[in-house]
Amino acid sequence: MASSPEMRTEDILDHARSRDIETALNIWTLLACWGSLPERNSVVETLADVIPDRFLTCRKIDGDYIVDFAGDRLAKTAGGILFHAIPGVLNEDVRGHLGTVFDQALQLQRPVYAEHYDHRSALIHRWELLALPVLSDGEPSIVSLQLPLAYHKDVLMAIIGSNPFAIFAARIVRNADGETADFSVNLVNDAGCTMLGKSRDAILFQPVAALFPEFSESGAMARLNKTASDGVADTFTFERQSQDEGENGALQAFTVTVVRQDENVLMTFADISELSQAKTRITRQHDKLLQINEDLRRQKEDLSATAESLELARVALGAEIKRRADLELRLRHLAATDPLTGIANRRSLFDAAGGEMQRAQRYSDPFSIIMIDIDHFKQINDRFGHAGGDHVLTEFAKLCVRTCRTDLDVTGRVGGEEFAIVMPGTGLEGASGFAERLRAAISEAAFRVDDTPVPITASFGVAACEVGDGSIADVFKRADDALYKAKAAGRNKVIAQAA
Ligand code: GH3
Ligand code: MG
Ligand code: MG
Repeated sequence: MASSPEMRTEDILDHARSRDIETALNIWTLLACWGSLPERNSVVETLADVIPDRFLTCRKIDGDYIVDFAGDRLAKTAGGILFHAIPGVLNEDVRGHLGTVFDQALQLQRPVYAEHYDHRSALIHRWELLALPVLSDGEPSIVSLQLPLAYHKDVLMAIIGSNPFAIFAARIVRNADGETADFSVNLVNDAGCTMLGKSRDAILFQPVAALFPEFSESGAMARLNKTASDGVADTFTFERQSQDEGENGALQAFTVTVVRQDENVLMTFADISELSQAKTRITRQHDKLLQINEDLRRQKEDLSATAESLELARVALGAEIKRRADLELRLRHLAATDPLTGIANRRSLFDAAGGEMQRAQRYSDPFSIIMIDIDHFKQINDRFGHAGGDHVLTEFAKLCVRTCRTDLDVTGRVGGEEFAIVMPGTGLEGASGFAERLRAAISEAAFRVDDTPVPITASFGVAACEVGDGSIADVFKRADDALYKAKAAGRNKVIAQAA
């Protein structure tokens, strides 16, 4: 829609742009010098001589302005837009703003100057007009001068000039065969100058190939040629080193849009450097993250491998600990065992006896020791040899163990053919009774060496732990004394000795 006109009746010449306004105003003033409005025909004839194309005449009939004449150029520029038909009734839009001006001129009976915007015209953006009140056959009528003030082109140029995108127009330069040879830049906006770092004069009429040396290599020139030949608009990405020293030759990226207009190509460069740098950064970060991920995965593998070998080491260590424990057990067993007979040796027997004595004293339990010595063993050795003697010793030990309470009593070899039995929970009487049973069993047992019967007897000394005993040695001493007495009394005897 047209905006309402800014009307002026004073100082018109201070505001009017076209000299035609002054001319028309002078003509009107001259013809109106008789004090009344000038005749329409006089004004028209005079105007037609000096400004033939730019005015129209109209009459007001029933509130509408009917155009009865319009100059050629005026009719052409505004024809079909200003008027339904020429001559004819002004269309509604125009009647809106022209009518107001015309009304004013008729009312004041003076020339009225106005500017108005016209958004419906294809070419003209702003008009200035001079409405001259005249008389036509005695009736008030209007002669109006219409002069374009600003063209849409100016608006477009302003848009292009202020556009943040670099815009270039280049004429297609053709060779003798009509093929595209190059492009000569004929328009550039401020952003374009900034982009190339050159003045407008240094850019205009230069070949595109010279201004954009990177074009041929990057394929942009081929795209430009294609659009020049087939007229199909194109968009592509273009990269180049920045000309700006401050940026240390940073890579600039643009989205270039190319369209053809007649024999020109228009190029618009949208700077997407920040976007593409951000993309590069993101890609780098992504790669870095992938690398970190890969490192973590490797570390995880290493860790699980370490954990595996640790587990293996742990298992191996467990096995080693068990092996050593077994070995220690075996060594301890060996250290505590008499190698010939497999029963407790002297040391472990004394240890066991010492432990039992402590326990017995703590709980006031009875506890006894029986010392046993085989009678005339030397003779057996003499008769069957040392090995035969060993065999008898082994069988003798078995018999002793078999006869006593294997879960409680401890039978040991004290040395040579001398044995002892530690009897926990057993007093002197009980131990003596057991010794007697063992003595009888020995004397009745059928010992043999190489199928030869070897009758054997043994002497027994029995002692029980007493309140006054300081150590196990006291008890052994009494048992030993009793054994000595049994020997002295003729052997194959049990002697118990109280303290
Ligand atoms: P007694 O009735 O007085 O005890 O007479 P005995 O012959 O048994 O006593 P004596 O102490 O004189 O002799 C013990 C013999 O036991 C002497 C030794 O040769 C023998 N003897 C000691 N240790 C071993 C051994 O490990 N193997 C064999 N075969 N004989 C041994
Ligand atoms: Mg002896
Ligand atoms: Mg003996």
